[in-house]
Amino acid sequence: MRLVLLGPPGAGKGTQAKHIVSEYGIAHVSTGDIFRDNVRRATALGTEAKNYMDRGELAPDDVVIKMVGDRLAQDDCVRGFVLDGFPRTVPQALALEDELASQQRPLHGVLRLVVDDEQAVQRLLGRREAEGRADDAEDVIRHRLHEYHTKTEPLEFFYAERGLLRDVDGIGEIGEVTDRALSVLKGLGEEDA
Ligand code: AMP
Repeated sequence: MRLVLLGPPGAGKGTQAKHIVSEYGIAHVSTGDIFRDNVRRATALGTEAKNYMDRGELAPDDVVIKMVGDRLAQDDCVRGFVLDGFPRTVPQALALEDELASQQRPLHGVLRLVVDDEQAVQRLLGRREAEGRADDAEDVIRHRLHEYHTKTEPLEFFYAERGLLRDVDGIGEIGEVTDRALSVLKGLGEEDA
């Protein structure tokens, strides 16, 4: 299973990705986690990305595209993957499409977790209390949502046009949302068969 999770910051992509990867035995590829790991290890990539992350801005496409290309070439992605936080722009989506087409490994689907902005902000403020992420301050959160609406939202149309987009109501208990997501994925499997 090769999937993309779409949705604003705070939609629950990371949480749902964890459940989906354990159900299907596939890799979880979170670009935010890769960046945060690089920031912790103070690599050159981490130092570059931190400037963008602290401001709630997207890192440059070429940097992220290369990083994901390297990650998808690793062994644990052979059985499939959930992309969490990538692509976030049309150029990133086009690069992914080209890369997967060249390997004859196209996406099976794109799940969009639907939550509204105020719910997203409230969740992220709650996460700041629990995890202390620097980019979960309210002004940065608002900027990340603005980035989502201007740069990432066009991907909804991009993937709808390709017949890949499936909506999942992201409001409710984590387990309820997971059940909805898994039943949509089951449907995708059946369409494939
Ligand atoms: P996330 O954990 O997915 O919310 O990502 C945290 C931050 O990492 C984002 O606010 C961006 O600064 C950066 N980032 C993660 N994924 C991407 C991406 N696909 N394109 C550009 N920047 C990204």
